[in-house]
Amino acid sequence: MNPILKIQGLKKNYEKKEAVKGIDLEIREGELFSLLGPNGAGKTTTLKMLVGLLKPTSGEIRIGGFDIVRNPIEAKKIISFVPDVPYIYDKLTPWEFLRFIGKLYAIEPKTSNDRAAELLKFFEMWSYRDVLIEEFSHGMKQKIILSGALLPEPKVFILDEPMVGLDPVSIHSFKEMMKRKAKEGMTIIFSTHTLAWAEELADRIGIIHQGRLISLGTLSQLQQQFQSRENLEEMFMSLVAKENESV
Ligand code: ATP
Repeated sequence: MNPILKIQGLKKNYEKKEAVKGIDLEIREGELFSLLGPNGAGKTTTLKMLVGLLKPTSGEIRIGGFDIVRNPIEAKKIISFVPDVPYIYDKLTPWEFLRFIGKLYAIEPKTSNDRAAELLKFFEMWSYRDVLIEEFSHGMKQKIILSGALLPEPKVFILDEPMVGLDPVSIHSFKEMMKRKAKEGMTIIFSTHTLAWAEELADRIGIIHQGRLISLGTLSQLQQQFQSRENLEEMFMSLVAKENESV
């Protein structure tokens, strides 16, 4: 396997707090990977280091062969990130926002417009393309953020709790899109508290607890590890309870 993402000895301290305590992980091209963990486990900190928004205290992250700290521009060209609390320009319309993203990534205008139209139609936001984003609900804004992140057709798509605020129909279509994109070769890494999505979507699942990756594998490997046919929720509950006992 030639991993598109390679993490070695990744650590992050916020002053005295050790938020991430040494993570090693390899993710292959076209893999759908889900990062799970209780509140405060270190998921957001890890994802922000992967995309170059936070500098690791130590360790190395290589994306598509590029070190995110030493070659941030090269690495960032192939990544899109949807943070848990995204920022969006309220005074733009979706169409203006997507044109702005297209220019930022130097995408040829016709290609950029075609992709923007396709994404807005996919997210059922086409009829709102000329309305100011400040007038949108949380879920509508999230659809525009997802569209903006997909417009450059990233090789590696990283999402922190991506489906919060989406209605059930949009969640269904977005899940189908994630499966299709991964089949086409996009690597997708997402954190979630909705274990059913990880169970349904992920090729592999990583469970992080108090800054450490305490479990990693496919759903059936996790079931073997637990010697059970339990669903992910039950395994997650017993794993976290066991870890809490040992602290
Ligand atoms: P959640 O599921 O609640 O979003 P998470 O797994 O994403 O949690 P992180 O946000 O990565 O967790 O936080 C990991 C730890 O680091 C927590 O103990 C948190 O309090 C701490 N932390 C996060 N950001 C900072 C910061 N800017 N300064 C100090 N400590 C922080």
